[in-house]
Amino acid sequence: MTRSITILGATGSVGASTLDLVRRNREAWKVEALTAHSNVEELSRLAREFDARCAVIADEARLAALRDALEGTGIEVAAGRAALCEAASRPVDIVMAAIVGCAGLGPVMAAIEQGTTVALANKEALVSAGEVMTAAVERHGATLLPVDSEHNAIFQCLQGGRLDEVRTITLTASGGPLRLVEDLDAVTPQQAIAHPNWDMGAKISVDSATMFNKGLELIEAHHLFPVGLDRIRIVVHPQSVIHSMVEYRDGSTLAQLGPSDMRVPIASCLAYPARMDTPMASLDLAEIGELSFFRPDETRFPATKLARQAAEAGGAAPAVLNAANEVAVAAFLAGKIKFSRIALMVEAVLNAGNLSDAPRSLDDVLVIDEAARALAEAQMETA
Ligand code: NDP
Repeated sequence: MTRSITILGATGSVGASTLDLVRRNREAWKVEALTAHSNVEELSRLAREFDARCAVIADEARLAALRDALEGTGIEVAAGRAALCEAASRPVDIVMAAIVGCAGLGPVMAAIEQGTTVALANKEALVSAGEVMTAAVERHGATLLPVDSEHNAIFQCLQGGRLDEVRTITLTASGGPLRLVEDLDAVTPQQAIAHPNWDMGAKISVDSATMFNKGLELIEAHHLFPVGLDRIRIVVHPQSVIHSMVEYRDGSTLAQLGPSDMRVPIASCLAYPARMDTPMASLDLAEIGELSFFRPDETRFPATKLARQAAEAGGAAPAVLNAANEVAVAAFLAGKIKFSRIALMVEAVLNAGNLSDAPRSLDDVLVIDEAARALAEAQMETA
């Protein structure tokens, strides 16, 4: 049976892994919409290869280039935020939400409002919107399938289990490329992006280096698996073989293991609740030899502590933390601030922002996001 899919953020790392799986079983899939931010060349190449019904570019200035690139193919083209939401709301079996950052929130909500099954990689959207998104999922009868390898692992460990029988959830963290680097002030964007285990987009790679990725994942887990923040733990596991664990009340701990390749959790979402083939070799534990575990060093990498505080505070705090981090990471990648200023900037914005008003709607989240970005930009000026 053919299934239909829309991929938001098709030109990125998760988008490419998703399309790789679709390519391997081409006759099983019909591609409805593919989207990108500005990469017209790759978007048009993918739209042709996968015979997509529609291609959407977020940057409206690139619409003419996209139209030229797809002329004569019959593929619909569109641009801008509203077009992204329109593409996300088309009826399909599954939407892969793989835009990076809070920019993906509008399209994710548009898909949820149609009651669609959404495979969610775009963690920043859930971190920012929190209960606004989970309430919408419930109201519209949508299904959220976690793509993030840790949350996908927890989701798998919870199959057949009950949340009220969970004692703890443990998120594993590789610790990133800088765990053992002494001078964090001297770290360059190239060093921060060079993740030891995973091949990912630039923003999440920097987030892994600062540990904000794990902080965002803590908040993501809190919304997806509401067992209480005090029951969600983080352990550094440099080999990235165990992707996360669930401990039940009887003392049994279930873990999901696998190669560090996003095609594994993506496949589990695409085939859910069944399974599908992937090109992964079997895990060879004897070859891996040893698995090690450490407590996170929250003095050198305060991101997880800040994220836990933001999650405990609730209200606008998680959206503020996310927005400040997005601005700080972009500034670091552009060479405007040092690596160690990322966490300091996020902390300063959290301390300066009005965090009390909990967002009640998508518009509220977007207003908070914009205000926090302005505060973060102002922080940068004063640095
Ligand atoms: P990439 O940077 O590789 O790709 C991002 C995608 O989003 C691209 O298609 C990009 O288009 C598009 N995009 C960027 N900005 C905008 C915008 N403002 N509006 C619309 N589209 C935009 O990111 P990743 O694939 O690494 O990550 C995607 C999401 O998945 C992130 O939230 C990340 O945290 C999460 N994730 C990623 C994992 C990974 O292994 N990469 C693992 C787990 C989660 P263009 O190419 O034109 O710029």
